[in-house]
Amino acid sequence: MSSAPTPTIARSRDALRQMRDQWRAKRAVIALVPTMGALHDGHLSLVDVARAKIGADGKVLASIFVNPAQFGPDEDFDAYPRDEARDLEMLAARGVDAVYMPPVDEIYSAGFATRIIVDELTGCLCGAARPGHFDGVATVVAKLFNQTRPDYAVFGEKDYQQLLVIRRMSRDLDLDVGILSAPILREQDGLAMSSRNAYLDAGQREIAGRLNTVLKETATRLASGDTVGAALGDAHARLREAGVTRVDYLDVRHARTLAPVNLRVPEDGTARLFAAIFIGKTRLIDNVPVETADNRPDA
Ligand code: AMP
Repeated sequence: MSSAPTPTIARSRDALRQMRDQWRAKRAVIALVPTMGALHDGHLSLVDVARAKIGADGKVLASIFVNPAQFGPDEDFDAYPRDEARDLEMLAARGVDAVYMPPVDEIYSAGFATRIIVDELTGCLCGAARPGHFDGVATVVAKLFNQTRPDYAVFGEKDYQQLLVIRRMSRDLDLDVGILSAPILREQDGLAMSSRNAYLDAGQREIAGRLNTVLKETATRLASGDTVGAALGDAHARLREAGVTRVDYLDVRHARTLAPVNLRVPEDGTARLFAAIFIGKTRLIDNVPVETADNRPDA
């Protein structure tokens, strides 16, 4: 059991506004950590990034909202894991000041008819594989920003494309929220922590652990000058051999613009390798930097 104070829970915009007004009266800096719940240590590391930025006097506000607008019609919105009591316990133990848990109609009122479309960055990777996904993400994040009015918001590199899309939206729309990023937290075998890992049975979980190994080894090959075609071709084969049901995409892209890298990665270390795979019906994503000699941390 933790001795951390119980966070304030706001379920409506009104309750949220009241709390925010009190914080603002004390001139507290606010950091938002948006999540869809079913929390794991990866989410909690975002709370730590928020706290490190704003300090003990700041207010860390986590939100939990499973956003219907970012799920496709054949995706797992209904099945998405939900465990409010456990999530609240974990957030309390990590020292968040408040949790915003709106019901769907606090976000999408009757007749809701507006969508935010980020034209660049969204035509590839998950944007191509999940049509409309990033419109749903951008729209809900803009709404959460407007409702919570944070100074900062934290997003994980696990959803690297999402992080870039949010940064661009915030800049383009002058949302005036500092976007902070957090590195990917992984299980011991390298599998990126994800709420969706809960869908995997023991055999599938073992297969899932291969994804990061294959990505890291492929990134090393790319960094040492192998062609994209050869390295990705082998990676596809290895994932299939490992028992992956389907490779949704496996792609190397410019790390800031997501422009395609066609033949070989540039020497300046700006490339990143991205993957989405299905194991059974479960879709998992991961990404790793391609660390050429110029951008290795120890270079
Ligand atoms: P989600 O609940 O899946 O929407 O994720 C909420 C936030 O947590 C997003 O910014 C994710 O990128 C981030 N996140 C999810 N998994 C991880 C992880 N393994 N490491 C770091 N951040 C993560």
